[in-house]
Amino acid sequence: MATDGEQAVILRMAVPVPLRRLFDYLPPDGLDPARLAPGQRLWVPFGNRKLVAVLVEVLAESPQAELKPALELIDAAPLFDGRSRAFLQWAADYYQAPLGELYAAALPVALRKGKPADHWAEQWLQLTTEGKGLPESALARAPKQQALLQLLLEQGRQSRTSLKERGHSAGSVRALLERGLAEWLAGPTVPPPIPAAEPGAPPQLNAEQQQVLEAVPGEGFSASLLEGTTGSGKTEVYLRLMQRALDRGQQALLLVPEIGLTPQTLRRIAARFPRHSIAALHSGLADGERAQAWLAAAAGQADIVIGTRSAILTPLPRPGVVLVDEEHDASFKQQDGVRYSARDLAVVLARNAGIPVLLGSATPSLESLHNALSGRYQHLRLRQRAGDARPPQIHVVPTLGQPLEEGFAPQVLRHIGETLARGEQVLVFINRRGFAPALTCDDCGWLADCPHCSSKLTLHRRQRHLRCHHCDYRRPLVDSCPQCHSRSLSALGGGTERSEELLARRFADFPVIRVDRDTTASKQALDRLLAPARDGEPCLLLGTQMLAKGHHLPRVTLVVIQDADGGLFSADFRAPERTGQLLEQVAGRAGRGELAGRVLVQSRFPEHPLLQLLLEKGYGAFARQLLRERATAQLPPLRAMALVRAECEEPRWAEEFLEQARAHLQALAPPSPELEYLGPVPALLERKSGRFRFYLQVTAVRRAQLQPLLARLCQWAEGHRNRRLRWAVDMDAQEL
Ligand code: ADP
Ligand code: ZN
Ligand code: ZN
Repeated sequence: MATDGEQAVILRMAVPVPLRRLFDYLPPDGLDPARLAPGQRLWVPFGNRKLVAVLVEVLAESPQAELKPALELIDAAPLFDGRSRAFLQWAADYYQAPLGELYAAALPVALRKGKPADHWAEQWLQLTTEGKGLPESALARAPKQQALLQLLLEQGRQSRTSLKERGHSAGSVRALLERGLAEWLAGPTVPPPIPAAEPGAPPQLNAEQQQVLEAVPGEGFSASLLEGTTGSGKTEVYLRLMQRALDRGQQALLLVPEIGLTPQTLRRIAARFPRHSIAALHSGLADGERAQAWLAAAAGQADIVIGTRSAILTPLPRPGVVLVDEEHDASFKQQDGVRYSARDLAVVLARNAGIPVLLGSATPSLESLHNALSGRYQHLRLRQRAGDARPPQIHVVPTLGQPLEEGFAPQVLRHIGETLARGEQVLVFINRRGFAPALTCDDCGWLADCPHCSSKLTLHRRQRHLRCHHCDYRRPLVDSCPQCHSRSLSALGGGTERSEELLARRFADFPVIRVDRDTTASKQALDRLLAPARDGEPCLLLGTQMLAKGHHLPRVTLVVIQDADGGLFSADFRAPERTGQLLEQVAGRAGRGELAGRVLVQSRFPEHPLLQLLLEKGYGAFARQLLRERATAQLPPLRAMALVRAECEEPRWAEEFLEQARAHLQALAPPSPELEYLGPVPALLERKSGRFRFYLQVTAVRRAQLQPLLARLCQWAEGHRNRRLRWAVDMDAQEL
């Protein structure tokens, strides 16, 4: 409590609870308020719990009554600097998210749980200004000190551990300290080095790459879309832009899709920048490693930060460039909790920091393409494949009325055989894992359904079970119909396992490598699995979209797409866009080396206009056509769209909640041609894990129209106390 004459100190905290407001506390008992600064974590009491909260502001007074003291200060120095706090606040406002939950999303698990940052701290020896200004030969008479000085001059600060490893004695360190030439600094340990590939000389940029590089301004905010076919050398452009930031002493941030952060990618970057420290932030790390990498990024220790979605929320003290690879990838959008888009936030981050952002893709999202075509982003293109590789030839194989063998047309099997016989590699893309997507009874028509979801169970024959791909429910494989006891059961449709059986039988002389989530538990496993393919042996790769991205397999000359039709008839207006992206990405795996590539696309509807456009004119023309259709239908990206979602075991409650939400919104802003409401309607997957899911769709001509409305809606909904109902606002929703 403040004593007379003394100013009270109030801590305004972001607490990780689903309430869109901040909470005020008194400083922990006995703590000198001078030690408090925004961006630090503190333990606070909340109800009867104890939570890790982030200090947002220190105030002199509070409108809130009966303040409790916070329990304990966790960080001596703030983890989040001012720019990072402003950025997270912006994101909280835009996505209608509680600020406390956004901070929690930004923190790695170990720090979210309150582990002190100095748990990983290390002592670093670095030169003082005097030390840096010393002439080369100043210590010539003390060779050991000279050697240490040289090391610090050439390679920058050194940890205590590395000094020991390099054989520098405590004596020479002390001598430099006493002369005021060096000083100790406590900071996070640098992340462990990434084993680099052979550092090769960077290729000479081709003219197109050079133009792209020159078009990205070195300074100030700029947003660019780099539309470049696979293999056109986009990664090389990223590397040059990173180099540019590093040369200025700034940090480079590269965001990659969930399955794009492969050891291969990391090795390539580590090989290019052997003297810079790289923090890789991805889900494959242990909690401690992740915290360490995060702290290295946040403390400015890491020059290069490579990460998946949540890396965008990591504070960077000296950002210089933001790069988003495969910017169209769905994994950049968080689908639960705080539903942010890392790709969109990348642009906001760059704008706030006044630096360039580059979004790259062979198959840009319609959102980014629209921004580029309307002049909001700079539109940069790479039209040719870099190096010697030539674009693949694409052929459609009609499957209707053909004698298919486990889903493959005879001529496709023939091409596979010929390619393998020539000593080349084949990639077969099948968008579904397991043996078959459904099991049915031939006598009574029984279908194996998931008891918790509105979906069928997938047959996994190898593991002898039926499994739901939405909630992971499993049941042992039955050999007779549970309804009529008939033993005549059929597996409907095909998946990777089924194709693998056929292909392994047909091409028994060659290794068949199946890559899907069932065979490939980790990035390392994928790396190992693909090793024979990288070695150049003739082999057959078969798998889901895990195979579509990021792997450079120069000996693949034939790509087979088993079924192109899936997304063309979906109720989701984004499905054709996703299908087009996937097909183009998979096709792009063909002919990445000196050998020319061929792509065979099986389809029941070879005349489908969108498929024709895609295959004949390529993704660029296809996407522009889709944009025109979205404009006609008044859909994103031509309109801003938010969904209000609700799910509940009792479907009536979810629907009623959304009906009330709609009435509430309409009272604030009646429907008009500028602002439209749709719903409540059931989600595409209506029931998931036992809960019925509905949404209310709000579309507006201007994004700014939606924000205040949704903020009011959240206020209302927070007062709606039904513990069994879950609701969320999904700004720029990607899934229906
Ligand atoms: P993308 O990221 O667009 O798929 P990459 O940057 O990975 O393309 O380039 C594809 C291949 O071409 C890589 O093997 C890369 O090393 C090579 N490459 C890129 N730029 C050049 C260049 N200017 N000259 C020669 N080879 C290049
Ligand atoms: Zn039956
Ligand atoms: Zn299920």
